[in-house]
Amino acid sequence: MTTMTEKTPTSDDLTPLLTHWQFPPFDALTPERATAAIRSALATAQAAVTQAKRAVQTTNAALTWAEWYAPLDEALERLGALWGVVAHLHSVLDTPEWRAVYNELLPEMTRFWSELGQDPDLYGGMKRLLAQAPDLNAWRRRALELEVRDRLLSGAELPETARPRFLAIQERLSALAAKFSENLLDATNAYSELVTDEAQLAGLPETVRAMARAAAERDGASGWKFTLQMPFYLPVMQYAEDRAWRARFYRAYATRASEFGPPEQDNGPILTEILALRQEEAQLLGFPHYAAYSLAPKMAPSPEAVRDFLADLARAARPYAERDKAELERFARDTLGVSPLEAWDIAFASEKLRQAKYAFSDDELRQYFPLPKVLDGLFALITRLYGVTFEEVVLPTWHADVRTYRLDKAGETVGYLYLDLFARETKKGGAWMNDAKSRHRHLDGRVDHPVVYLVCNFAPPVGDKPTTLTHDEVLTLFHEMGHGLHHLLTQVEEREIAGLNHVEWDAVELPSQFFEFFAWEWEVLQTLTAHVETGETLPRALFDKMTAARFFQAGMQTVRQIEFALFDFRIHSELGVAATPEGRHDVALDDVMRILDEVRAEVAVFTPPQWHRFPHSFSHIFAGGYAAGYYSYKWAEVLAADAYQAFLEAAETRGSVVDPTVGERFWREILAVGASRPALESFVAFRGREPKIDALLALTLGSQPDTEPTGA
Ligand code: ZN
Repeated sequence: MTTMTEKTPTSDDLTPLLTHWQFPPFDALTPERATAAIRSALATAQAAVTQAKRAVQTTNAALTWAEWYAPLDEALERLGALWGVVAHLHSVLDTPEWRAVYNELLPEMTRFWSELGQDPDLYGGMKRLLAQAPDLNAWRRRALELEVRDRLLSGAELPETARPRFLAIQERLSALAAKFSENLLDATNAYSELVTDEAQLAGLPETVRAMARAAAERDGASGWKFTLQMPFYLPVMQYAEDRAWRARFYRAYATRASEFGPPEQDNGPILTEILALRQEEAQLLGFPHYAAYSLAPKMAPSPEAVRDFLADLARAARPYAERDKAELERFARDTLGVSPLEAWDIAFASEKLRQAKYAFSDDELRQYFPLPKVLDGLFALITRLYGVTFEEVVLPTWHADVRTYRLDKAGETVGYLYLDLFARETKKGGAWMNDAKSRHRHLDGRVDHPVVYLVCNFAPPVGDKPTTLTHDEVLTLFHEMGHGLHHLLTQVEEREIAGLNHVEWDAVELPSQFFEFFAWEWEVLQTLTAHVETGETLPRALFDKMTAARFFQAGMQTVRQIEFALFDFRIHSELGVAATPEGRHDVALDDVMRILDEVRAEVAVFTPPQWHRFPHSFSHIFAGGYAAGYYSYKWAEVLAADAYQAFLEAAETRGSVVDPTVGERFWREILAVGASRPALESFVAFRGREPKIDALLALTLGSQPDTEPTGA
């Protein structure tokens, strides 16, 4: 990337950014040029919007896709792609200069896109296209239908009289969500404990002690400071032998942002107001309750289907969870002398049990996974499954670490993959896949190929020693590659429905979770592993140990996820549904807690103490995008496992789970079709039937629990 500084970019400087591009023009990009180019693209997009609005307002003649939609779409794509590059750099090259560009442009961009989504003329134009346009094909029709639906769900059909209230609700809801997060953060930070007696630290690993000592030093204190932040809280619960300390910490954590703390940090009134306003919002839009509104753009067909799904899963998983619980209680009593097992003993006893059962270290395992070998094996797996080959190519990037590949299938280019795998200071943590381009055929016949960034935070290589990955990191790489392939291998040539775009939210994790299963196969692991010193592939004994550890407490974890999902879904479909005579949708905190109790009685194997205030810290649904959608985690996992089961069935008859026949079908029916049809239709086309939960149980919970009583 160009690093020289410059005053005012010339129009020659901006040409590579503003003309149509297939590859993000990182070589022509400077912060100054990006700002100027985005302002220019924004002006062009605004002009295209004005022209499209005028056409709707001034003519009653039939609009056409080619003349009305396509020019608008092109202008918006230029702007969106350019802004996408800056947003991407904000995540992977967060220097002061790029951060300034991002923060300066963000408000303008947010305002532009949100006004665009609310524009009544554009909405009307799209509806007219759907009704009359002579040049719609199936893809264009589907793309328009989904755009119209999105606008409908954001209030496009609201009567004028309802609009001010609707907007007021939305504003209030976003303020409440922000307040919910702030309260939780403030309450988390408000509690700390300075330990001065080293004996209290018994059991804690050295790294945690060092962290706590540094935290105390920052306060000018001697001793060890512990807060409720995860890096402190989790080790205390897992390792601290001082049971009273664990109990104290557990209670502090479990009652954050509740009536047990300062009133100004209490999330109780906030979450009930959120629930009430969501019901009012959903009913303004014509839905019986918020859960039904949440499902409108999702794959799950109805609230009943979600309830039934969670109930079925709970019934099936519960015996596994009971077995896990019995094993843990027995171990805690007999080996640790802890009985009865209290809420603050669970993590502690679980960690001891895990160590006792599966004695192998992550470090021992990672010696078998040098990154270059893993990548070779991963690419080879994709080639065998889908007939797609990888060719390393030279393209402009944002950092010397980035590797770029062209993907070909049957002699034709299908897309481009950028791998940015190593942690560095300017990169956000975590792992994700993001797209720079979607597949699209322009009116003149040119095709844009999809371009995908795959970003991880693995340790960089040291000297001539390659990076080695833990198996968890291998799973992360497979997960993100699963998303990437979904976007890259699409055949759909209308960008709004190509690849990942517009795929139902509760189905979008299918390809990613599906792909992870391959990284558990003996056969595949042989091609991913070569010991850094000896070159030896993964030994069978170590494979058996990691497979056994895979299912550790999976039953308990599954019912916990179901508990959260069922609670989320019930409060959004049962509380505040009927309005008061004044039109309010009141929700009482007692009812929220009652539903939580009922859900726990139905699915949980451990019941937390009565003073536990779980809802007050459930950010996913009160401050994130998961409201009446937490079930999606399990829903997508069912699809992923059931799809993978087809490969296991092929392995039974043809001997290998890497089966090109099933692979080709998975590509054709699931990956290639994007959102050109509903996800359920795609699944049925691949599997020949609707999804079943059996495969999930077998693949994530391990062997069937004994039907014998498991007590003493
Ligand atoms: Zn994912």
